[in-house]
Amino acid sequence: MPETLDSPYGTGFVDLHAHTNESDGSLTPAELVALAKNSDLAALAVTDHDTFSGYEKALPQAKAAGLPLVRGIELNTRLYVNGGRSHRSVHLLAYFLHGEPSHQFTDWLNEEREHRRLRNRLLAEALQARGMHVTVEEAEARGRVLTGRPHFARVLIEKGYAASFEDAFRRFLGEDAPTYVQRKSKTTDEVIAIVRHAGGIPVIAHPVRLGLQRDAERDLLLRFKQAGLVGLEIYHSEHTPELQAHYRQLAAELDLLPTGGSDFHGNIKPGVRLGTGADGNVRVPASFLDRMWAFTNNG
Ligand code: AMP
Ligand code: FE
Ligand code: FE
Ligand code: ZN
Repeated sequence: MPETLDSPYGTGFVDLHAHTNESDGSLTPAELVALAKNSDLAALAVTDHDTFSGYEKALPQAKAAGLPLVRGIELNTRLYVNGGRSHRSVHLLAYFLHGEPSHQFTDWLNEEREHRRLRNRLLAEALQARGMHVTVEEAEARGRVLTGRPHFARVLIEKGYAASFEDAFRRFLGEDAPTYVQRKSKTTDEVIAIVRHAGGIPVIAHPVRLGLQRDAERDLLLRFKQAGLVGLEIYHSEHTPELQAHYRQLAAELDLLPTGGSDFHGNIKPGVRLGTGADGNVRVPASFLDRMWAFTNNG
């Protein structure tokens, strides 16, 4: 294989983190592609939670529109803290720039979706135990192949139990809420290895949500790097310009590839726009994607 190959992504800006209604976004895959095209993006990665079906459904439209489409996914992982006494959830993005992941990987995804379904049943029970009339079926009716907490949030809002998405997450669905249910997950280190083994590029999503002090954050990312981590999401709708600069520097220091995206969910997250994030805080150069592409060719 030659040392360098021409990148298919060209110049301009890309968005490497977006959801369709195959997971918890509100736009169909075709609508997302049309929006990316209208937003003049040079490429788009579809990164639904636990499923490639949004990416696969978007492919024909993207081909017709001449929009390079990247196969991505957002995975749930578990991070043990306090010396293993407790754990929290960390999101890992995975990008497959060259072909499909192995059957082993897609079989594992099936198990992950099963864990999600179990979590959804337990979440409904937890809400019912607190006197709320919310069922799994009602949440599922608001999603498509995959039901997530945002679908529960919708039911809670529609039934008057919560005033908004933020309210629903703060009081019932978020990690600090009394009815929070953590699904079964592999550890972040394990999922990083699984993604690498399947030929993907693992990237820590929205590192701001790790909620760590600078030293602890650096140590943890160094550990993930040793486990095979390749990239760090430096642009994200929840990253202020200061945080973006911080993560850019950290990525350079730790020899991680910088990536970025809006984490667009359509009207589920109304303040977030495809390509530009919240108040224009996301602007991801196509060169980021070129470096990822070169990594899968040479790395
Ligand atoms: P799940 O994959 O079902 O555990 O749901 C996670 C999704 O819920 C995230 O990807 C976001 O789309 C959404 N989410 C998580 N925390 C919040 C929050 N505090 N406010 C609004 N949406 C959230
Ligand atoms: Fe989501
Ligand atoms: Fe996420
Ligand atoms: Zn996301």
